[in-house]
Amino acid sequence: MQRVAILGATGSIGRSTLDVIARHPERFEVAALTANRQAADLVELAARHRPRYIAAADAVGAAELVRAVRERGLRCEVLAGPSALAAVAASDDVDTVMAAIVGAAGLASSLAAAAAGKKILLANKEALVMAGPLFMQAVAEGGASLLPIDSEHNAIFQCLPPHRPGRLDAGGVRRILLTGSGGPFRTRPRSELASVTPDEACAHPTWNMGRKISVDSATMMNKALEIIEAHWLFGVPSERIEVVVHPQSVVHSMVEYADGSVLAQLGHPDMRTPIAQALAYPERIEAGVGGLDLAAVGTLSFERPDFARFPALPLAYRVLAAGGTAPATFSAANEVAVAAFLAGTLPFLEITRVIETALARMPSQAANSLEDVLEADRNARTVASAEVNSLRARAA
Ligand code: NAD
Ligand code: MG
Repeated sequence: MQRVAILGATGSIGRSTLDVIARHPERFEVAALTANRQAADLVELAARHRPRYIAAADAVGAAELVRAVRERGLRCEVLAGPSALAAVAASDDVDTVMAAIVGAAGLASSLAAAAAGKKILLANKEALVMAGPLFMQAVAEGGASLLPIDSEHNAIFQCLPPHRPGRLDAGGVRRILLTGSGGPFRTRPRSELASVTPDEACAHPTWNMGRKISVDSATMMNKALEIIEAHWLFGVPSERIEVVVHPQSVVHSMVEYADGSVLAQLGHPDMRTPIAQALAYPERIEAGVGGLDLAAVGTLSFERPDFARFPALPLAYRVLAAGGTAPATFSAANEVAVAAFLAGTLPFLEITRVIETALARMPSQAANSLEDVLEADRNARTVASAEVNSLRARAA
């Protein structure tokens, strides 16, 4: 029995994970479910999946959570507050941790799972982007195993030879080809982008995801974060990571070898496939995802990304070259800008502008400790919020 803790259980990845787990009661047991503060949703999920623990990051909702658990007659233990999630992630009652919190909020619990030597299924790419070297070091020192859930990285993982870390040349790997759909605005005239709404930005053509990552897909900031994610996960230098736009989202990424072979992983754009792959690895299990009817798909097309339309992409390479705290600044400023866009206080095209401003005002510094990373995160949020406010004042 694999005892699984799902951090971010009420989200899109969390629910897809529960869907896969429920198909295999003989293999998996839900050990813990966590959310930010969605008490009602959490209790609903707990009633269905009977975890040993439920935890809310926000201690304010704890009383409500305890009351709801009692009313439903559930027998789970309730934890709350910022340290509750890390405690769950490191618990002796947990073998596998699905890290599916969105943004920097997932960093502490992902690191706790790494230090405790868990099997980590990593969806929370922001944690790895912010603290890449520290995170990989925690995984190595804790004896954890790290399996990527992000569909592209899961595809790359499936296409790479075994014994990967730091051994790409030995494995004959030439390049990583990271595919991206191009999002909802791939062909939208630039003049119209200034006034697009949050709902338009979140209407992704091929994937159904949480709102933050949906906006990231529309700016292609998601692909920018994924370049950095691939760099840390697989130890690939950035000049060997190339983005290919593939609007159908059927090829989830590719690995090119020295002999000219290109291996790809294909499938429906459904996150249950990478989740099932990682949960059962190295075995294969049913994920509830149907077969791929290639004749019905008809055409798979590929384009070079437009760096002028999507400035986040060239920025990612610059951020990787700068190293240190630059990736944390990059990701944190984006979180602030996306939240402002979703709240209707920042126009779409200003999202990358806010990120550029934060990077320009905060030259990269050494990131030798978690405290260095968290300080860069805090400062980037301050700078980005000030920039959002000043853009707003100028527009008024
Ligand atoms: P979501 O918004 O649907 O869910 C986020 C979850 O995180 C919720 O359970 C929420 O309660 C929890 N959360 C939010 N803020 C929190 C906080 N401050 N403290 C504790 N918990 C908090 O997001 P999602 O789309 O499921 O994405 C989750 C992660 O997976 C992101 O890092 C995203 O980039 C990554 N990812 C998602 C997809 C996808 O298809 N949705 C694909 C690839 C990668
Ligand atoms: Mg992805």
